[in-house]
Amino acid sequence: MLVYEKVSFGSECNNRCMTCPSARQQETPRLNELVAQIDALKNGENLELFGGEPTLHEDLVSLISYARKRGARRIKLVTNGRRLADADFLFHLVEEGCRIFEVKIYGSRPETHDAVTCVRGSLDETLRGLQNLGGISDSGGHEGDIYVGIRFGVTNTNLEDLVPAVAFLMSFSIDAISFVRMGGDFPIVQAARMVANAMKVATLNRIWSMCEGFPPCVMKGSETHLSELLQPVAFENDKPKSCLRCVFAKICTGPHGDYAGKGLRDFKAVSASPYSKDMEYLLKMRSIHAKQ
Ligand code: SF4
Repeated sequence: MLVYEKVSFGSECNNRCMTCPSARQQETPRLNELVAQIDALKNGENLELFGGEPTLHEDLVSLISYARKRGARRIKLVTNGRRLADADFLFHLVEEGCRIFEVKIYGSRPETHDAVTCVRGSLDETLRGLQNLGGISDSGGHEGDIYVGIRFGVTNTNLEDLVPAVAFLMSFSIDAISFVRMGGDFPIVQAARMVANAMKVATLNRIWSMCEGFPPCVMKGSETHLSELLQPVAFENDKPKSCLRCVFAKICTGPHGDYAGKGLRDFKAVSASPYSKDMEYLLKMRSIHAKQ
């Protein structure tokens, strides 16, 4: 189980997403501060570079180079992908050692994606970035060397677009897609069903799929696709008392805070699951890793 240590590039971004968790302004770190973040990491083998938008930082390429020289084996860039539309820039990132890209998307059409990013033309640039990623992984000695995942933000405006988006994104040679709940101001049971359908379409087309932020009690049949089983997630709010009896209580973030008062009866404690033993094993492994 790989654990990625995070390096923050501050909150500067060229999108203005309505759902942005880093809307709270954080200073853009200078190169020496980024280097200090890397030097302070416990392990430094697997890095996740995130923001804001890390590709806007003028020292991103230098930092990737520094991290590689210091022993980083896997460098993941979490990005909106817009600057990857510049093929030369992308080439430098890859040449210096960044080979894992997680691209954030909110829809297959400008009406859904740009409506969330609040920047007209942002989807177009992101798709050109994905196209360049596909091109570079098919040539230049990087065949099979580049991993592209999509981080699809699920909102109340794009539920109908989940399945079409998977079908559309397949043409970009992506390796995986994660459906991440953004907020709770939508009917979660209906959303969970749509996410499950979209994950089935992805699986049928040999794209690995995951979901994040959807309580297991509303994802029956898709439990093996829960990100929370693999990656620890910070609990954001107190869960209803009934959750304490649930076999998933230790990994589930619970109903989103916005959902309180909108019918918690949708969330019913799960008394038994065929995955309980696997989950206990993973939790044990997680705590062993955390102590190392
Ligand atoms: S009952 Fe509560 S703890 Fe269990 S899966 Fe649902 S929300 Fe999560």
